[in-house]
Amino acid sequence: GATLGVLGSGQLGRMFALAARRMGYRVHTLAPGAGSPTGQVADREVDAAYEDVEAVADFARQVDVVTFEFENVPAAATECAARHAPVRPRGEVLHITQNRRREKRALADAGFPTAPFEHVASMEALPGALERIGMPAVLKTAGFGYDGKGQTRIEPGDDPAEAWQAIGGVEAVLEAFIDFEAELSVVAARGVDGAMADFGVIENRHRHHILDVSIADMPLPGGLATEAREIARGVMEALDVVGVLCVEFFLTRDGRLLVNELAPRPHNSGHLTFDACLTSQFEQQVRAVCGLTLGATDRLAPAAMVNLLGDLWQPGEPDWAAALADDRVKLHLYGKADPRPGRKMGHLTAFGGDRDDAARRALRARALLTSTAAG
Ligand code: ATP
Ligand code: MG
Ligand code: MG
Repeated sequence: GATLGVLGSGQLGRMFALAARRMGYRVHTLAPGAGSPTGQVADREVDAAYEDVEAVADFARQVDVVTFEFENVPAAATECAARHAPVRPRGEVLHITQNRRREKRALADAGFPTAPFEHVASMEALPGALERIGMPAVLKTAGFGYDGKGQTRIEPGDDPAEAWQAIGGVEAVLEAFIDFEAELSVVAARGVDGAMADFGVIENRHRHHILDVSIADMPLPGGLATEAREIARGVMEALDVVGVLCVEFFLTRDGRLLVNELAPRPHNSGHLTFDACLTSQFEQQVRAVCGLTLGATDRLAPAAMVNLLGDLWQPGEPDWAAALADDRVKLHLYGKADPRPGRKMGHLTAFGGDRDDAARRALRARALLTSTAAG
């Protein structure tokens, strides 16, 4: 059996490793720190900084293929790994998608629809950009943002200097605020041979900029579902992705799809595929990066997922048995020791008679986690 190398240490790597090990692969992971969610289930955990190119080279020499679960692996690390093993998706995909300016530029250049945006290199450039983009607008750091960190909304009358300080005064992208109808995503995969598959349209609801609920098979009017899936496939072809990629979309009130951002890896909104689809997004990543035929993505039943954030650990350990009293609810915990507020600790997937029923069950199960503890 082959050995698969993962750069990164979070829950995405953990679920990838679980899928890979089930299929008989060995999994090595490299990230700073030990005892990580990925490291706990990998065959070998290398504790090293991504900047330590010697360690990355040594890591890559001992595996047959390298993939990643962490978006901010520096280009130097993927370049160095690529000298010893194939890196899938290739480092250039990571390089583009880890910076909002490069990502939005690549999308716009390839003709994919995005919200109006402009690069903002300095505070001095912000007022002009606001003039052209209009308000309300959203200012986002170009790098290192996730779960809405590093972004701020700017309304008419707000002080641009304050907004610039709020995101830390670093290179940014300004985009028009979209008063969207809904948010959705398409998780797709592309194999070494160029074959593609996707998991359909997933509806996403956020709370405080963090994904809260995902529901499979969102019904969309006209040809919009097909359009979303074609955009996801088109993006993978344009970037020559081998692996899994998620496209996050806004659906505007006048029925247009806008690409919000890309993630060149399995995505939180695709976690429901673990239980709900013939092949999960994690098995699909294994299949894609190993050059296997992609798995069928059929959904087995209507399904919904809710995230479990660290907040649920107040005042104490959640009541898992209460949530699992519903025999159509599945629990996933990521093995994180420190349940900080806003931190993704796990998720629940629920099945139902239809998608609304599945979402209701997922939300009810989550509510039951804390209902007794609080009383
Ligand atoms: P993640 O990578 O965790 O999905 P992120 O920090 O990269 O998040 P975005 O996806 O850009 O951030 O934004 C997070 C959420 O904030 C979006 O899903 C959406 O709900 C809201 N948001 C972001 N940009 C806009 C916008 N231009 N107009 C309206 N809402 C927005
Ligand atoms: Mg993001
Ligand atoms: Mg996002």
